[in-house]
Formats: sequence, structure tokens, C-alpha cells
Amino acid sequence: NIDILTKAYTRDKVMDIAEDLISEYNNINIEFALLMIDIDKFKNVNDTYGHQFGDEVLRKIVEITKKNVRDTDIVGRYGGEEFLILLQGVDSHNAISVAEKIRKSIEEYVFPKNDDSVTISIGISHFPTNGYLLDDLIFKSDQALYFAKEVKGRNSVVNWNEEIVEIKDLKNFNLEVNID
Ligand code: GH3
Ligand code: MG
Ligand code: MG
Repeated sequence: NIDILTKAYTRDKVMDIAEDLISEYNNINIEFALLMIDIDKFKNVNDTYGHQFGDEVLRKIVEITKKNVRDTDIVGRYGGEEFLILLQGVDSHNAISVAEKIRKSIEEYVFPKNDDSVTISIGISHFPTNGYLLDDLIFKSDQALYFAKEVKGRNSVVNWNEEIVEIKDLKNFNLEVNID
């Protein structure tokens, strides 16, 4: 259940916990926010400072994230440099505050022998406000993350909303126009 490198929960474990919260919602009534975190330009970090340093960054990001959430919150590794966080019993507004705190703490952390700060982007969705199915929530957090990267230019937090979908389409449309 624990990722060896970062000591975060594995993807499967986080998904299991989220599924439990969803199926128990009628009894225990715990809402939650699902945060998708992705390191900004992490390929550059590896290329500039080496893979071992990159691994150290992954570990540190989990450590800093855990310090900024409650004991009941779940910090997991979703994939290579992507993390999935479950904030239990928070509304969207509070989720944004926590995400901002995590984002700032990582930006401000000074890594040894590293001249540039490492930054992250975060996409947020909320259960049950934005959906009742885990797949849908992950999809929406991912959409918000994409928006944080491509529209807000990284190092930012985006909460999912209907407009994100429209602006993403508009961006693709503009891209097509530029290519033509
Ligand atoms: P973006 O801001 O768009 O997210 O850019 P990015 O460079 O972070 O995105 P990209 O997906 O191109 O690169 C992700 C990098 O993460 C590439 C891969 O080598 C690195 N990575 C994935 N898993 C690990 C790992 O376990 N250790 C290290 N050191 N690097 C990893
Ligand atoms: Mg990525
Ligand atoms: Mg990345």
C-alpha cells in the first residue's frame, strides 16, 4: 500500500479509500476534495540536476505535502511525478486554501545545490459537488490541472468548473488556427 520511493500511499490504495468514502456517503456523509498534483517541468529538473536529485525532489514533495494536510488526509503517488491527495471533510473553498498552502510551501523550499525553485500545479475536484463517480472526479481534477499548466502557465491551483472545459476547447481551436 506504500510507494517505496516516496512513502506516499500507492495509487491503488488512494483509489480504494476514495471508493469507500463514496460508497459510504449515505451513512457517514464525508465530503472530500481530490487534488491532482504534477511537478512543473520536471523533465528539466532531471536533465539539469540528475535523476537522483529528481528522486529526492519526489520524496521532499511528499514530505512537504504531508506537513500541510491533516492526519486524516491521504497523500498518494498517482504515477511518476504525479500525486493524488484526498482531503476529507472539506468543501471546495477550503480545498483551494490547502492546495495553495502546499503549492507555496514547495515553491519556497530551497533544495540544496539547486538554483531554481521547484514548482507544482494542482487541479481540484470535489465530491459530491462535481460528481459521484471516482473516474469522473479524477477526469475533472486532470482537466483542472491541464488548465493550471497550459492556461495559467504552471505554479498554480485550479478548482474544476464548467468554464474550464470550454476554455480548453477554445485553446485547441486557437492552436488549430495557428497551425493552419
Ligand atoms: P509539465 O510541466 O508539463 O508537467 O512538464 P514535465 O517536464 O514535468 O512533464 P513530462 O511528462 O514531460 O516529464 C515528466 C518527467 O518525470 C519525465 C520523467 O523522467 C520524470 N519522472 C517520472 N518518474 C520519475 C521518478 O521516479 N524519478 C525521477 N527522477 N524522475 C521521474
Ligand atoms: Mg506528468
Ligand atoms: Mg510534470
